Amino acid sequence: MTDELTEPLPVLELRGVRAAYGKIEVLHGVDLVVPRGTVVALLGPNGAGKTTALAVASGQVRPTEGDVFVAGRRVTGVAPSALAAAGLCTVPEGRGVFRTLSVRENLRMATYRGLKLSVIEERAYGTFPRLGDRRDQLAGTLSGGEQQMLSLARALVTDPAVLLLDELSMGLAPMIVDELYQQVGQITRHGVSVLVVEQFARTVLGVADLAAIMSHGRITSVGSPAQIESELSDAYLGATS
Ligand code: ATP
Repeated sequence: MTDELTEPLPVLELRGVRAAYGKIEVLHGVDLVVPRGTVVALLGPNGAGKTTALAVASGQVRPTEGDVFVAGRRVTGVAPSALAAAGLCTVPEGRGVFRTLSVRENLRMATYRGLKLSVIEERAYGTFPRLGDRRDQLAGTLSGGEQQMLSLARALVTDPAVLLLDELSMGLAPMIVDELYQQVGQITRHGVSVLVVEQFARTVLGVADLAAIMSHGRITSVGSPAQIESELSDAYLGATS
């Protein structure tokens, strides 16, 4: 049998994706595969097109050419809500928490999928004990790292097939970033695959199974984290990583 028949279908695939904002094309034919049960890191400098690639994957930007597949099913042009129902979950850049609601009330938002709040809280606080200690605190008064934990916890309790993470490290102290990525590294144990975008690479390479470098709207390299780390220029691996 060929590999194609024995290998499970990738949970997410971008094939020949081009995308533009108005007349300006920013993705020039992107191929990217997230195998099931892996953490894939998408790295590259400012403006390379990483966030746009995630936006295409989550249905927020429609490609001008090429296709998106979820578990082998072509989903190009499908509404973001239908993609969410297919198991695609996005944690956007910046923290998508409701600032004027408590930690527990934020978690309550995830009950719409039928899970009980008590089950959701148990899972969320089991993964991030610090959230448990702060369950009655308003989300807007949590530290940046704690807010990021809350948005990750909210995403995880929905049991996504694939989680899309954009710049978890944004504005956070390196120690907190390490802590968050340790959790991301554990996520695949629960059957969730992850595509994570980061500008600065070192921490995420520590927990990724595969990494890709994007530059000027193209994937320029794909390989193991060790291969990619050796390819990245010192300029990318900045002091904040
Ligand atoms: P960063 O690491 O800085 O977030 P990135 O690799 O995620 O960068 P994108 O945000 O995808 O890159 O941006 C790719 C290009 O598309 C950039 O030149 C950016 O200015 C442009 N761009 C992004 N969003 C829009 C938009 N909504 N309208 C117009 N141009 C956009």
